[in-house]
Amino acid sequence: MIAAFVGGLIFLGDGRVLEKGTVVVEGERILRVGKGKTAIPKGAKTIPLDGRSLLPGFIDTHVHICLDASPDPVSTLAAEPAPITVLKAARSARETLMAGVTTIRDMGGKDGIDLHLRDAINRGLTPGPRMLVSRNLVCMTGGHGWPFGREADGPDEVRKAVREQVRAGADLVKLMATGGVLTPGVEPGAAQFTEEELRAGIEEAHKAGRKTATHAMGREGILNALRAGIDSVEHGVFLDDEAISLLKKRHVPVIPTLSALYNIIEKGTEGGIPAYAVEKTEAVKPHHLRSVRMAREAGVVIAMGTDAGTPFNRHGENLREAMLLVEMAGYRPEEALHAATGLAARVLGREKDLGTVEEGKLADLVVMDGNPLEDMGLLLKPEAIALVMQGGRVVKGNLDNL
Ligand SMILES: [Zn+2]
Repeated sequence: MIAAFVGGLIFLGDGRVLEKGTVVVEGERILRVGKGKTAIPKGAKTIPLDGRSLLPGFIDTHVHICLDASPDPVSTLAAEPAPITVLKAARSARETLMAGVTTIRDMGGKDGIDLHLRDAINRGLTPGPRMLVSRNLVCMTGGHGWPFGREADGPDEVRKAVREQVRAGADLVKLMATGGVLTPGVEPGAAQFTEEELRAGIEEAHKAGRKTATHAMGREGILNALRAGIDSVEHGVFLDDEAISLLKKRHVPVIPTLSALYNIIEKGTEGGIPAYAVEKTEAVKPHHLRSVRMAREAGVVIAMGTDAGTPFNRHGENLREAMLLVEMAGYRPEEALHAATGLAARVLGREKDLGTVEEGKLADLVVMDGNPLEDMGLLLKPEAIALVMQGGRVVKGNLDNL
């Protein structure tokens, strides 16, 4: 079928907006993007968009589909039987897709559940976003994330741990360069893997054609990872001039995951979040916000990633991150939408197929009632997401009754 969306506000995904644009979809891909009726091929089904916006499917570059966003999700995951985790993960994937997020990158699962869910979605067994998965995160013994990670010490063992993830079918490798908030007794600012360990893991991943990402909060760990050749820095709480200049020089993006911070502080210990997590988050907040602003001003690429699955950071509320980039980090709304689409696709290395409304790309599209530039709050209203298309297939809404 050929479908032509006509007359809407088209967000191209590169920061630009086309007024009264036409987007034609044939099969799983975008056939044409233009203006007015001349762009409509003969025989196409016409879908009028008046008053609506059309955007690329959103991309969340940092989620944990195995974490359920309960007040203490790491303990919950450790205690529950795997079949329960599977069912919850499948529900989370569906809710993510219904929110207009058509692609996610999972940054640490358990028992291969993330990986098998990816395959189940690809086979059409259950609805969900396209998934790129890291499988087990790789950390030092007792390091951040150890309760569901693969612990490894010394360059050779890190190498082996990375090879295990690749052998099992991981799309990318996640390495822990510093401590973090959700593991008790671990300091966010402290370095964990050494530069040598990181270099061994990154080299091994790159040999297999996999990208690498690092959880990195403290300055020393961020620098270790950058020197070792990491492909993305997650969180990036304590950035300084040296880190910023390396990020720029090596074109390494930062994924701030402000949603994790926001939800932990918003709900606090009254919400049942462990006191150690709330205290650590409150301590890093001013540094974190300062770092995001510094990175933005220096022109470092910043993409949307939520850390969904952390306390009260619910799957399906991913687009809060775009709002927080505006509210907490001084972004313009169009910049935040760019971070959630075109820039996010580049972080994943999938910019040939995803992230922008462009001829030849996969037809991952979202139709929204209204204009998100005028009201960012629309992003979090499920009823405002009128239609979601994934690879040319309608997964939410109806082309005949939009
Ligand atoms: Zn994370």
